[in-house]
Amino acid sequence: MRTACLHTFAALALSLSALPTLAEEVTVYSARNEQLIKPLFDAYTRETGVQVKFITDKEGPLMARLKAEGRNTPADMLLTVDAGNLWQAGDEGLLRPITSKVLDANVPAHLRDPGGEWYGLSVRARTLVYNTNRVKPADLSTYEDLAAPKWKQRLCLRTSKKVYNQSLVAMMITEYGEGKTEDMVTGWVKNLATAPFPDDTKAMEAVAAGQCDVTIVNTYYFGRLMDKSPNLPLAIFWPNQTLTSKAAGVHVNVSGAGVTKYAKNPAGAQKLIEWLSSDKAQNLFADVNMEYPVNPQVKPDAKVAAWGSFRQNLINVKDAGSLQARAVKLMDRAGYK
Ligand code: FE
Repeated sequence: MRTACLHTFAALALSLSALPTLAEEVTVYSARNEQLIKPLFDAYTRETGVQVKFITDKEGPLMARLKAEGRNTPADMLLTVDAGNLWQAGDEGLLRPITSKVLDANVPAHLRDPGGEWYGLSVRARTLVYNTNRVKPADLSTYEDLAAPKWKQRLCLRTSKKVYNQSLVAMMITEYGEGKTEDMVTGWVKNLATAPFPDDTKAMEAVAAGQCDVTIVNTYYFGRLMDKSPNLPLAIFWPNQTLTSKAAGVHVNVSGAGVTKYAKNPAGAQKLIEWLSSDKAQNLFADVNMEYPVNPQVKPDAKVAAWGSFRQNLINVKDAGSLQARAVKLMDRAGYK
């Protein structure tokens, strides 16, 4: 009798393990839109046979949904932009830590969570864009220099309500401390030619129109705008390149992913994230949005590479999240709307 039971169990276990396709399906909640991710997931399915289901939405609703669903969530993986958002997902207990030699090798240490809850998959650089008729590159040097009196009435900025600027200022708190960062942001506000813009593109259009001379934007918006209007008098400048302090290097952020806390298929989600970090997927992931591959072995798209190479700031991007609340308060005190 006892033996018969064991045989039944063995037979059952065997039949379950014979159903790998169902078990291997991975479900992704993605704040990156369908046109950016579907080609990748299709390629993954072709290569591995694993189906990837996904829904797309803004990061706020996706995180709220993960929280509300709790252990009943169908999501195995969360994919979103900005380390501030990834950190928040981790902070709210929506992700589970993983260890992966593949990810440790493919993703530089400053572009992933030290606790293994999320990993950068593409790099976005937040840098200076200037009017080539009104500014010489030699006039530009650092983010902090934009607070100097010589830029009075010459600076345009995107609103402080956008997470990109919150992340930028949060990381500056690590670099300079809160007092010096507040002085810098106050200086920027004093130098504004006009009220902050709702997006990076409008800030660059104002620079191109001569309403101001320089702004701070993510490079892929510059790429999109120049694709549309190649004759605009705009160029990229890489700041902070010759500093030797913690503030050295261009501010970078990531889009990235983590395995959800209640994933039904955590191993499958981990394999997908590992694949996304590999040389096979990195160009597909970064080039569609004119971003930079996170994997240093992979070269950026030729058009992106033409903007020139630059030194990155090496502070861990998790600070964009952990110091975000302080950054928001600081920008408020400085009068940065
Ligand atoms: Fe963006």
